[in-house]
Amino acid sequence: MKKISQFILVLFSVFMFSCGEKNNNTEQTQEQIETFEPIEWTMVTTWPKGFPGLGSGAEDLARLIGELSNGRLTVKVYGANELVPALQVFDEVSSGSVQMGHGAAYYWKGKMPAASFFCAVPFGLSPDEMDGWLLKGGGWELWKELYAPHNVIPFPGGNTGMQMGGWFKKEINSIDDFQGLKMRIPGLGGEVFKRVGGNPELIAGGEIFSALDMGRIDAAEFVGPYNDLAFGFYKAAKYYYYPGWQEPGPTLEAIVNKQAYEALPADLQEIVKTASLRINNEMHAEFTEKNSQALKILVEEHGVIVKKFPQDVLDKLKQESEALLKEMSETDELSMRIYQSYSEFKARSNEWKKISGSL
Ligand code: CA
Repeated sequence: MKKISQFILVLFSVFMFSCGEKNNNTEQTQEQIETFEPIEWTMVTTWPKGFPGLGSGAEDLARLIGELSNGRLTVKVYGANELVPALQVFDEVSSGSVQMGHGAAYYWKGKMPAASFFCAVPFGLSPDEMDGWLLKGGGWELWKELYAPHNVIPFPGGNTGMQMGGWFKKEINSIDDFQGLKMRIPGLGGEVFKRVGGNPELIAGGEIFSALDMGRIDAAEFVGPYNDLAFGFYKAAKYYYYPGWQEPGPTLEAIVNKQAYEALPADLQEIVKTASLRINNEMHAEFTEKNSQALKILVEEHGVIVKKFPQDVLDKLKQESEALLKEMSETDELSMRIYQSYSEFKARSNEWKKISGSL
């Protein structure tokens, strides 16, 4: 009987000790959280502060990180040129002078030609296909590999949806109508446009309207109905062409300095990733909703004439685009792997799209 009592006493002691230890641990964790020094990050962006969809998306991302982390990680956002010039965002994140950036991978194609594949290439993947390739088809891993030597970790951080082909003062009836045409069309789309005889111009978003209105350029592409309506391009050109062959649904990026990311505890790292993916999805939803509203206003209230590029024009542009992408992929071994992964995914997805998009 005595032995049993002693055994129960031992068991009880062990139990109490365990509880005590557990309580101490819980108290310590609670204390750690309460005394946790909040981390403050700076985000620089390639967009004008608060610009609809793009700039506001970057701000939503920062707000969401603060909310999900209960204020343990806060992010202060700067618009283009507030802290650094728009096209210096990548270098600042790379050097660690800021912890985070928001922009578009194809802005860095001068540094890494294959970066365009992670945003948009002419006649490339649609927004849902970009998500499929990046998140489940091996694209994100290649993107991380491409940025790794620069100390930068990329996250999908938005999508404008399919863009429009642009605003034209005159109708486009054949590829010859592009001869000598001065058009604001940046990036790879601009290079393809040049191959078919056009004169591509690189003009910042805020200056497009006056260039088009004053006749300095004959045509301009920017984004799609939502953003284009805001800039009033319909007052300067009346033909609004589709499809946006040059940018069929660019993914935008949230980029983080590698050391800053690795210094975070695991839960905050997950919050940065989760918040980016949510904004990736939400921004696309916003553009889908607002583009449809804006298109209706452009046509019904402003008399805009919406036209499709002739098929032979699109065929020629596609042929030149494919040649350009192939040339780009020959830069180095990683570029070739990125091109092959992207192309294989696209070929496979096309087969599915013929059926799934047939309704
Ligand atoms: Ca564009």
